[in-house]
Amino acid sequence: MSTTANETGDAASLLAGGGFVCDHAGMVFPAAYAATPILLNLVEHGQRPRIKDAALGLLFDALCALPPAGHNRVDTAHGTNVPLCCAIARRIRSRRAVLRAHGRYGRQLIAEAELHWRLTIEETELQLDGTLTAIAVLEGTPLPPPAEAELHVPPFMQPAVTVRIDALTADSSGAACIQLTQTPSGIIPGSTLYPAECGLREH
Ligand SMILES: [Zn+2]
Repeated sequence: MSTTANETGDAASLLAGGGFVCDHAGMVFPAAYAATPILLNLVEHGQRPRIKDAALGLLFDALCALPPAGHNRVDTAHGTNVPLCCAIARRIRSRRAVLRAHGRYGRQLIAEAELHWRLTIEETELQLDGTLTAIAVLEGTPLPPPAEAELHVPPFMQPAVTVRIDALTADSSGAACIQLTQTPSGIIPGSTLYPAECGLREH
């Protein structure tokens, strides 16, 4: 029993100096993004069920708790100022097979992560009526449009602006066609879209 407690303690201490979530306040900190792959590894390779379960619980907290105001974004390899929840969700989605093998809670975590969808624009075409049609790659599962989204344009130096997705069609491979209104000029291939509400999640 003490061994399990120690291992769980070690796992917790790995989490970016201890304490990336504050349970009492229901808060999550940006360090949770760095801790996510560590937790996913514990779910996959943890020696004991209790450790796997503890890691899964912490992943739920990391994804679902609110960050403190002003600390709700992280820089990632695929863009800066990404909403923290969406950055964590993307790492979780990349390990679907591991989580599916972990039963009902693993599948629930995948379902939760799918809601933090992401679109990467590949090609755009301005229509005569001023709307923009784009071919994009979809990850995750958006609610039916219209949907407010925040637009990130490479090299991601400018703050994200809000646009509206009026139509979205996607196949199971993630190939998508979207229609946007209120689109600023300068939107280029490689631009990304995230749920606008995710950028507003904070205490
Ligand atoms: Zn999100």
